[in-house]
Amino acid sequence: MSDAFVSAAADLLGERGLLTAEADTAPFTRDWLDRFGVPPVAVARPASVDELAALMRLAAEHDLAVTPQGGNTGLLGASVAGEAPTVIVAFSRMSRVLDVDPIGFTVTVEAGATLAAVHEAVAAHGLALPLHLGSEGTAQIGGLIATNAGGSHAMRFGMMQDQVLGLEAVLADGRIYDAARPLIKDNAGYHLARLFCGSEGTLGLITKAVLRLQPALTHTATALLTAPSLAALEEAAAPLRRNLGSLLTALEFFHETGLALLERHVEGITRPVETPGPLYLLAEVASAADLPLSDILEAAMVGALEAGAFTDGAVASSEAQRAAFWRLREEMPEGQRREGLQLKHDVAVPVGRLAGFVDRASTVASDILPSVRINPFGHLGDGNVHFNLSPPEGTADFSGKAEALTNAIYETAVAEGGTFAAEHGLGQAKVAMADRLRPPVERDLTRTIKAAFDPKGRLNPGKVL
Ligand code: FAD
Repeated sequence: MSDAFVSAAADLLGERGLLTAEADTAPFTRDWLDRFGVPPVAVARPASVDELAALMRLAAEHDLAVTPQGGNTGLLGASVAGEAPTVIVAFSRMSRVLDVDPIGFTVTVEAGATLAAVHEAVAAHGLALPLHLGSEGTAQIGGLIATNAGGSHAMRFGMMQDQVLGLEAVLADGRIYDAARPLIKDNAGYHLARLFCGSEGTLGLITKAVLRLQPALTHTATALLTAPSLAALEEAAAPLRRNLGSLLTALEFFHETGLALLERHVEGITRPVETPGPLYLLAEVASAADLPLSDILEAAMVGALEAGAFTDGAVASSEAQRAAFWRLREEMPEGQRREGLQLKHDVAVPVGRLAGFVDRASTVASDILPSVRINPFGHLGDGNVHFNLSPPEGTADFSGKAEALTNAIYETAVAEGGTFAAEHGLGQAKVAMADRLRPPVERDLTRTIKAAFDPKGRLNPGKVL
């Protein structure tokens, strides 16, 4: 069955369009963290939407599962094959930035374009796609939409779904859903294009998107501050948000535990301020207009400093220093990865309950495994925390307590009115958790929507539900 598919797909896509040798498919087989993925039947690299539509009809005829893969930077095993015989579809030959509209502030782009490539293309027009994440050199527009990526600017500009005006996708049966319209207002019925945001490749394969742009924020001021506790940071955040208004672009936090891991494992890390945390806040204001941003930021910080929210701080005096501040936050995952085994938990709670959540989750985790190292970091402005754990110093694993730790942390987030899946989605890693923790009505509706798009369940099976 697979042989007949491979032969027909090779005729359809040509030599460059179909990879079957193990050495060629290997880079597509495992996920970023090397936790999931079995060898696929083939990796297809269509060069157009029509080729992809024909491929989908072929996969349907041969009853093969199809998994779309973007930059393969997802962290939950959503972009690789599960149990069923699977064709992986990669978008490296559909990666053009098709059109930048400097009047309507939109960009039309093929799904395989990386976020960095889109940033570069729109910057040439004085415009910006306000989505920023550590993986932006590799993550692709299709993957960013399918995971509804968040990142550091979500507080001001929302997540990926807030940038998507319309899109085109190929459905399981090969039909093309074409809603790549550059319209800000489009209420002709359900906004079906929105359904693809966060769908993790289970509803259709996104081929093209029209994204909303903003004026490029060419002026910035960035501060790095230390604080005695997350509660102090949380308390300081609300007045900062009120006083700085829409100039405030990022409010990112990290912990001394994470900074120590960075210093241990990542080259060229320098401590930005003398007083050690234990908590650090990176605050950035940005504007298109040339405003005295450093003065504005400093003035907003002074009140909080006087009230004791911060113990020390510095405003970046050069672009190099700004980059050094951001590096501390963006390399956080890398420092912990190099330390060895880790447990990552991407959760979110209502903004004002973040400190309470971290406190409670820390107690729960330490009760289960005393001396477990807790490395919370994330987005203070939107309530999203990466509550990551490393084994106690000097030990290599979680002493058989990994599952208990993870369950307890997700349950604590839900009990705080939050979610066990904030910006990374469900993938394979959180499917069982979703079955357990999502309310029954939500699960029923999800299954009904899935069945409407993909009645035979061949699109990325085993992910999301
Ligand atoms: P992949 O990993 O290839 O796929 C992700 C999902 O999208 C899969 O379900 C896949 O099937 C589906 N998919 C891919 N392409 C398509 C398509 N064309 N049509 C339909 N479905 C498709 N995430 C954040 O949200 N915020 C962060 O700050 C962040 N920082 C990160 C930092 C690092 C260093 C790393 C490694 C990852 C980070 N991530 C972050 C996670 C990851 O980068 C995002 O989830 C990203 O959106 C994945 O894009 P991708 O192209 O790599 O998709």
